[in-house]
Amino acid sequence: MKDFVSGESSCLCGSVKIKANNISPNITVCHCDMCRKWGGGPALALQCGTELEIEGDDQIHVFDSSEWAERGFCANCGTHLFYRIKGTGEYSIPAGFFPELKGLEIEVQYFSDKRPDYYCFTNKSKELTGAEVFAMYAPEK
Ligand SMILES: [Zn+2]
Ligand SMILES: [Zn+2]
Repeated sequence: MKDFVSGESSCLCGSVKIKANNISPNITVCHCDMCRKWGGGPALALQCGTELEIEGDDQIHVFDSSEWAERGFCANCGTHLFYRIKGTGEYSIPAGFFPELKGLEIEVQYFSDKRPDYYCFTNKSKELTGAEVFAMYAPEK
């Protein structure tokens, strides 16, 4: 278990600044259709806890992307800011949002069964299929 790190950055146009003090340095990659459509490629996300210091909140648009999560982006420049779990308020922020962070590592890849043939990460990490991800996170009925 690695220590949490802190990061601070802004969107491309500078309207939104985010500071996170509890960033896990372990990247979760998501190959699902929705993430790839949103970002043009797989999402590389850092879990950032529930507490963020945000400036320029009025420029953040939040898209209700599924029953369990929503996605925030800058209304002015379109920079992807976060994925937020509705139930817990937990934020994931794209690793690329924090260009200064060092020592990040890919820990797990979600929806490995949805990964298209045209790319592949050479570093080894745990992989979970969509069914395995849903089994892990599906809310208890
Ligand atoms: Zn912006
Ligand atoms: Zn995804």
